[in-house]
Amino acid sequence: MSGPSRRRRVGLLGGTFDPPHLGHLVVAECALVELGLDEVRLLVAGEPWMKTAVSHVSAAEDRVALVRAAVADSPGLVCDTREVGRPGPTYTADTLADLRAEEPDADLFFVLGEDAAAALPDWERIGDAFALATFVVVTRPGNDPPDETLLPGPIVHLEIPQLYVSSTDLRERFARGGATRWLVPPSVDAEVRRRGLYGAPAGQ
Ligand code: ATP
Repeated sequence: MSGPSRRRRVGLLGGTFDPPHLGHLVVAECALVELGLDEVRLLVAGEPWMKTAVSHVSAAEDRVALVRAAVADSPGLVCDTREVGRPGPTYTADTLADLRAEEPDADLFFVLGEDAAAALPDWERIGDAFALATFVVVTRPGNDPPDETLLPGPIVHLEIPQLYVSSTDLRERFARGGATRWLVPPSVDAEVRRRGLYGAPAGQ
């Protein structure tokens, strides 16, 4: 497809990114290429209401710096901070409504892993969110596809290379001085150590 009438195709990957890792980048890159998107925005969560109740989340400023470092060498991947400055809980339905108002002629694709997709039926105003974007669920090791009978519309399934990488595992690796290189891009590894996040030793 080409020409002036072609609608822009914008992917969105929401996350806490504490820290961003290879799993996130593979998800974003696969969505970008396989779905023919013009860009994928990594939406850094401000106050992730599903997570702050149960665990500590690093400062948004640190997570934004890490995501910027993560996408620096990936054309088409962008760090999006719109949710960071928003006070109170963030709901994807609101973010999608803002994006639609800003770019009425873009088609939005909200990308998420199977673990996150399992919670979709509990999302605030999920019907509105589905009306505003195509939901794309990517495979994630140890998880199953969501029960589509509980969702307000169809989803797109995207099979991606399976990486047993998570932010939880990486925080633990940084804390104990374990192997992290190549599980996060070198730029993220360096930035974590420079900022002294997760109790990581300064250099490695
Ligand atoms: P945590 O371990 O702290 O729960 P996480 O690794 O799941 O973090 P998030 O920032 O919560 O990272 O994830 C953002 C999005 O990326 C979610 O939709 C999640 O399902 C997806 N994702 C993260 N890692 C992977 C992976 N290895 N494979 C597929 N999807 C992933």
